[in-house]
Amino acid sequence: MPDSNDWRLVGQEKYLQGVELCFRKYRPYPKNADWDHDHCEFCFAKFMIDDLPDALHHGYSTLDEYRWICANCFEDFQEQFQWKVVPCVGESSSC
Ligand SMILES: [Zn+2]
Repeated sequence: MPDSNDWRLVGQEKYLQGVELCFRKYRPYPKNADWDHDHCEFCFAKFMIDDLPDALHHGYSTLDEYRWICANCFEDFQEQFQWKVVPCVGESSSC
């Protein structure tokens, strides 16, 4: 079980404590189409559209899609961070 010494914890509680997340298919940040990938806020796993072997294609994002969390880290930290999972909104509906 993770604890406060987990290497992945570097102060995310400042901006991720208790936020709403939705599980969705990865897409680049809508406000900046130049980004073609993102990283998990905790373990830095890579999210991208391209079908690379180590790339993730689904994850939990904040509702503005600015921050992404992989399924593993979601499982590990959901109790600590008290996330609220809500249905996806917007056109990215193929969750
Ligand atoms: Zn992760």
